[in-house]
Amino acid sequence: MKYSRLIGKTIRQQSGNQTIEGYSLLLRGGYIHVLGQGLITYLPMGQKVMDKLKHLISTEMHELGGEEFLAPLVNPISIWHKSGRSGMKENPLVTFKDVQGHTLVLAPTHEEAAVELARSTVLSYRDLPLFIYQFQTKFRDEQRTRLGLVRAKEFIMKDAYSFHSSYADLNNFFPKVFNAYVRIFKKCNVPILPAESGVGIMGGSKAYEFLFPHEQGRDVVMVCPSCGYKANRSVAVGVKLSKPEALRGLSQVETDGNLDLVSLAETLNVPLSKLIKPRVYESEEGPVMAVVRGDYDVSLDKLAAVLGFSVSTPAKKETLKKYKLLPGYMSPAFPPEGVRVIVDELVVNTPNLVLGNNKGGTHYINANFGRDFELPPSADIAQLNQGDLCFDCGKELEAHNAIEMGNIFKLDDYYTKRMRFSFENAKGQKVFPQMGAYGLGLGRLITCIAEANRDEQGLVWPLELAPYTYFVMGIGRSSRISGAVDELVQELGEDSVLVDDRIESIGVKFRDAALIGIPLRIVVGRRYLENDELELKDRKTGVKWFIPKERLKQELKIWREQHVPSI
Ligand SMILES: [Zn+2]
Repeated sequence: MKYSRLIGKTIRQQSGNQTIEGYSLLLRGGYIHVLGQGLITYLPMGQKVMDKLKHLISTEMHELGGEEFLAPLVNPISIWHKSGRSGMKENPLVTFKDVQGHTLVLAPTHEEAAVELARSTVLSYRDLPLFIYQFQTKFRDEQRTRLGLVRAKEFIMKDAYSFHSSYADLNNFFPKVFNAYVRIFKKCNVPILPAESGVGIMGGSKAYEFLFPHEQGRDVVMVCPSCGYKANRSVAVGVKLSKPEALRGLSQVETDGNLDLVSLAETLNVPLSKLIKPRVYESEEGPVMAVVRGDYDVSLDKLAAVLGFSVSTPAKKETLKKYKLLPGYMSPAFPPEGVRVIVDELVVNTPNLVLGNNKGGTHYINANFGRDFELPPSADIAQLNQGDLCFDCGKELEAHNAIEMGNIFKLDDYYTKRMRFSFENAKGQKVFPQMGAYGLGLGRLITCIAEANRDEQGLVWPLELAPYTYFVMGIGRSSRISGAVDELVQELGEDSVLVDDRIESIGVKFRDAALIGIPLRIVVGRRYLENDELELKDRKTGVKWFIPKERLKQELKIWREQHVPSI
């Protein structure tokens, strides 16, 4: 490929306030183009990286017996009604009507479509297990798009689905996919934190996510540096300790009605850990009040596990009014009728708390559950904080920010049962298949690969993913040089060579070569005219050396072998 013909040239200046350097390099290197907010075009070089990434992932999926399929991006809403997800509140479906008046969905994920496909092919236990995967576009109307490809509205995902005749079979298959994911990330030279996570709107019993440690990441993983325990903060379990102290006498103090948590702590001159943080959510069974300590946050995943159903919508003003819940003064010590109250276990174990009276005007101080007020129903419903203790070994847990790249779910019969997809087992009984779902966001992964494989000059692609293997340029206008460049392209194969044929200074060409990050730079210049030598420069190590042109093939063989990751 000639650089002069390439769509997507390098951009020299820094592009705005991109906070992930890898993403900024993809923009500057000519790999992607922003069409609109959360809508990104892959330019030809970006598309080449995408194709190579798909090939790498496909290889691993085939190893597991996976077969590639492609479901439509647009789904009939009926299959979403069947699964019960058509009314998702957290991420409402984007729907529209077709010319015949049928409601269609821009699918944000394809569990429903996969079940329908499996239904058409699985009749008896002999047809199981079934493992299918696809590379498909998803659309999610994200309220807040972030960091380009990290949170885009439209994105390409590798999603895979497995169906099994028994839970034991799903259970045996699940770690194989886990290990395939680990190998994929290793081949991409991307560090990962695999962590247990919540199942959220996906349903099912167990989930793991694969995260890229990064300070800009919105996910938080709790990590035990001693025993290696890792889990997303939303589900991580640990020991939340409260400092023991002597119980003081209960009293009441006057407080201003407009106080938020921080101003209340300042007014009363107490730390946030002496306050409670009540959060009220709407649910079909009436409002739910979840109460954690002032220095913690509610984990919706843990709360869902306790409730047996999930909540996410904060209570509306009318609901608060109807149930006489007064913001600033809500308290589990005075449980309002018709409101389900669940208190984090740490709240009841913390001495000398500040509690609202649910009426306004005053707060109790030095309140102690069990002594002053009845013990409310309690459970572990708080997200852990840095410094809480590991449940397994007692060491302090660390909180790491990270970007989620992929996740795997044991869905059990969550979808197959709801969608009435059964098969006949060996005894002739109708049974619902056990299902697993395995996702991997390719745009996020490419951003993380760029972030993990770069230096101060630009991108440094792993050999398997580089859009081109060789960056070839001639220096000087001699026809012997341009002839040698043409020969090199023939010899190395047009698909693997990017030729810088521009009339530009050597400095600009070298800088662009480094920014684009192609693994090996080959220069045909003065040394070639003098004694037939080519200059080779390895992008990763920066090592530069000269070889006679006739030895190029043997030299490249050795060089490539050194670059194949050992897995
Ligand atoms: Zn530990």
